Amino acid sequence: MSQPETIADIVSGHIASPDTAKERIQACHAKIERSQSQLNALISQDHSASNNANGGSLSGLPILHKDLFCTDGQATTAGSRMLANFVAPYDATVVSRLAKAGAVSLGKANMDEFAMGSSNETSYFGAVANPWDTSCVPGGSSGGSAAAVAAGLVPAATGTDTGGSIRQPAALCGVTGIKPTYGRVSRFGMIAFASSLDQAGCFARSAADCAPVLGAMAGFDPNDSTVADQPVPNYPAALTGDINGLTIGLPRQYFDAEVEAETARAIQTAIREFEALGAQVVDVDMPHTDLALSTYYIIAPAEASSNLARYDGVRYGHRCENPTDLTDLYERSRAEGFGREVQRRILTGAYVLSAGYYDAYYRKAQRTRRLIANDFQQAFESVDLLATPATPGPAFKLGSQIDNPTTMYANDVFTLPASLAGVPAMSVPAGFAGHLPVGLQLIGPWFEESRLLNAGHAFQQATDWHTRQPPGFE
Ligand code: GLN
Repeated sequence: MSQPETIADIVSGHIASPDTAKERIQACHAKIERSQSQLNALISQDHSASNNANGGSLSGLPILHKDLFCTDGQATTAGSRMLANFVAPYDATVVSRLAKAGAVSLGKANMDEFAMGSSNETSYFGAVANPWDTSCVPGGSSGGSAAAVAAGLVPAATGTDTGGSIRQPAALCGVTGIKPTYGRVSRFGMIAFASSLDQAGCFARSAADCAPVLGAMAGFDPNDSTVADQPVPNYPAALTGDINGLTIGLPRQYFDAEVEAETARAIQTAIREFEALGAQVVDVDMPHTDLALSTYYIIAPAEASSNLARYDGVRYGHRCENPTDLTDLYERSRAEGFGREVQRRILTGAYVLSAGYYDAYYRKAQRTRRLIANDFQQAFESVDLLATPATPGPAFKLGSQIDNPTTMYANDVFTLPASLAGVPAMSVPAGFAGHLPVGLQLIGPWFEESRLLNAGHAFQQATDWHTRQPPGFE
């Protein structure tokens, strides 16, 4: 089995010889085509983008964009029937920045409808299969991106994470995925789900491969009023691999929770590896952790119900046939265009924001969100990073949870708190439960992506989980 090439090697190869970029792009396209009937990782393939070996930091690097990012002149569906025929009139900032750095987009990755889901089964374009076991889900909502990187279709892909949609699929597919600090990356041109939580990030095999991709995506953007006006550190340069003396907190509440036995064992082994690398591991208390699930599933639907009000059949998106009047146009366009999970979120959101329930649910959830953020603030006064399981267990069977929303929501139990607090977090491959990958979540203080990436890099220099490739996709 050949070792996957690093992005640094790929890019320097392209700079030395731009023709190799062309060959790689063709090879990736071919691999995508071969995989599609098995994995369904893409919603659309893009043959138009040509060799972009421009000497930039990602010169000629083949990538995929989650189909939540607007791509100029190309279908941008958000995994929904509502936008099945929508062609974006401009590029998202993430898309234009990556292209400027030299990356070449080969298409749009499949995803849960409007990024709502943990299994990629809510996509209007069909479920994605996990390359490690095609009877299992890849996680969601960025399941197509994670599956594509795991299967070696592309070295990197973009994703978005509102409550875990980068970290959970990264964990379930055995790749590295980073959700940066809220505000680190522009949301301009990224179709909104829950605006106070949505954040773009990326997938690659390793932390060292994520570093240049995140670096190219991040930074101030006059088109997004919530993006931070802060310089972007040189992430690749921060990868010293030295974590001697780093203090890693293990939040008791995450470890008391129910975690599948082999997953728990892999996480413990990974934590011992960090100790062996010179980190000091201590227990910490994050007393409001158990409020995160209910808090998120009030705030995210509330914001979604507001954001998705724009899909009314009038301006763009799906429009029903022969409406009898304006109300009929609204009702049928939305009933036909949105799938069940999206409708459930809109209903929940409208309910928690309604006059009689706003105080009892929405306002209360905003208060608990603050308490959860305070837990992180306090923890980071005594530790440099936190380590937790990324998910309660490995990939589950396709079809096994889709009819039970509350079971499905529980998959996010370990990823939601960092989203609510807005802190950066990532999942790194940390072993296996049977034949399925396990992810370790590392969480850092606001804007400390470098520290996260370096800790992941140190771990990956001492372990080889991130180099494992699913059988049949080597
Ligand atoms: N699984 C969570 C949800 O369904 C998170 C999704 C996300 O991060 N976009 O809302």
